[in-house]
Amino acid sequence: MAKTPKETRDDFSPKTIRLLRERVSDLCSKPDCRVLTRGASSNQEKTTSIGVAAHITAAASAAGVARYDASLSSEQRKHYDNGIWLCQTCSRLIDVDENRFPVSLLKEWKEIAEQYSKESIGKQLVSSFDPSVIKSLIEDPINKKTNAEKDELRKKLGITEQALTTFFTILKKKIFLRNHYQQFYVK
Ligand SMILES: [Zn+2]
Repeated sequence: MAKTPKETRDDFSPKTIRLLRERVSDLCSKPDCRVLTRGASSNQEKTTSIGVAAHITAAASAAGVARYDASLSSEQRKHYDNGIWLCQTCSRLIDVDENRFPVSLLKEWKEIAEQYSKESIGKQLVSSFDPSVIKSLIEDPINKKTNAEKDELRKKLGITEQALTTFFTILKKKIFLRNHYQQFYVK
């Protein structure tokens, strides 16, 4: 039975999915998540994946889909530019709370995640946070930052103000972490 265009999903090709996954090193792109989404399965011939090539604007128009943009063509909707690699939890989160996760924020996450992947080649992954944010917190403690700077950081991490304060408190208390991060990331 022929489907109407609205019912047709603009799914990513296997090649696009692979690119979305590999360009972020199989890590979730949400800045405060960054979990590894693929690993060895107990079956020697398989791997286990908890990763999703999520659509930034929805793949099809239907009730409850997030960020559907009718102005996009089918090609644009399944293009690399419209995808972001996430873990299953974060993929669900961005779809159930559309207002909290607008297109601009997801594109920012993707850019940061790709940058993080690029900078991490050949290094040990010691942090789930964007290294530039950690560097910025170490060099310029949050209590000296202006509200606008705090807001910028919070947006970059995609977390609440409370979470940012908690993160900073933990960072401040655990001086050894600073040394750890400096060893790997702070030039
Ligand atoms: Zn995640």
